[in-house]
Amino acid sequence: MFISSLSIANKTPDPIPDPDAREPVCWLGNSPRSLCCKAVIGLLGVSLLSYVGYGIRYALYEPVRSANYLWAVYHVHSTYSDGLKAPEEIARQARLAGVSLVLLTDHGNPNFESSALHKEFDGVTLIGGSEATLPDGRLTFFGARTVPDIALATFPPQAVKQAREWGAFPVVAYSEDPLYGWRYWETDLVPGGIELSNMFTCVRSLSVYDKIALILFYPFSHYYFIKSVSFPSKSFAHWDALLQRGKIWSLVASDAHGGFHLGKSLAVSIPSYADVFSFAGLGIDKKYSAQPEQAVRNGDFFNCIRGAGEPDLFNFYAVDNGVIYTSGSSPPGKSDLHVEVEAEGLTTRLILRKNGNIVREVDSGRLNIQGAMGGVYRLEVYLLNHPLLPADVPWIVSNPIFVGGLATPPHRELYSETTGVREPRIDRVH
Ligand SMILES: [Zn+2]
Repeated sequence: MFISSLSIANKTPDPIPDPDAREPVCWLGNSPRSLCCKAVIGLLGVSLLSYVGYGIRYALYEPVRSANYLWAVYHVHSTYSDGLKAPEEIARQARLAGVSLVLLTDHGNPNFESSALHKEFDGVTLIGGSEATLPDGRLTFFGARTVPDIALATFPPQAVKQAREWGAFPVVAYSEDPLYGWRYWETDLVPGGIELSNMFTCVRSLSVYDKIALILFYPFSHYYFIKSVSFPSKSFAHWDALLQRGKIWSLVASDAHGGFHLGKSLAVSIPSYADVFSFAGLGIDKKYSAQPEQAVRNGDFFNCIRGAGEPDLFNFYAVDNGVIYTSGSSPPGKSDLHVEVEAEGLTTRLILRKNGNIVREVDSGRLNIQGAMGGVYRLEVYLLNHPLLPADVPWIVSNPIFVGGLATPPHRELYSETTGVREPRIDRVH
């Protein structure tokens, strides 16, 4: 009774409800709005945890490396055009990325300063070159012996001829870029090479969602970029057609600028040269140590997405009467073809193509063909179950072996038949 009286005495009166009072907007309550708040905060928390979780997984990723090949990078811009760094700094970053040869392609028709460069810095060979803007697209060339003080022709076959006369190696650039795409594919076009895949094109072609993911995960690991590499279907189609005209090599293009400009005075060094150089490159046998550029000119190299891993062994060759023929060469008809791929911890699928068509596909690192019939053979290697490289994007693309020789005369003969007399067609769109 006493307790009951006391509790009644101490009881404070119920507050008078304020008609203007609003429901609390925080999670401390059970109103529908509070529950909604909790759900949103919970969702954000789960998303953040999952983002950091994936990020850590990417941060722990390291591609397998191999010391068995020299690496070259092609399509690089220096301060001779819109690149952020001078050739010496590019060489330093190349060394960090394990690259021995840098093929510069600075903007200009031609870029005289860059095209005259042929230097070695700290064990890295720098070969200068140009990226010319023609009415039909971009043509690059590197390794000129001399660059006369004249402008490059605007008609593609003539520009290719000029570059060759200067001792340079001409390459059709941006073969499938939506913005800079090359448009001249007529039969008198016989360049030295064609860009198989351009890293900058790959980024530009990403969906908005994938671009956001790249921005979010790049800080965890620059190798996240490997997810952006796409299957170069148009480049492959153009290359296979060009291979019926002559010995034309495919080159994976870094399109490295060392970062990007933000306005006129600010520049951001992302992605750095070293980062881009570690994504993809040209694999060269060490027998070319003294002259790695020669391997590129010979077609005796392979394209590799190095960010997905480097092979301990990559051999694609033909044998006839005990003589070995590497890529770029022309063994006699009915030569044997051999493929050997070894890469620690990576599972490979090999696709052998003849004149662009699949003739053999195996989930293995070995492939042998006895007595191959005449044709242009090239190899694509895919990685099964790689954490970053999409399964439908080739990890390695070889250069071709021309069993039985070329179907058509070598490009120099073909070229002399068609150039010097033909003028640009007036119905082309410039
Ligand atoms: Zn470029």
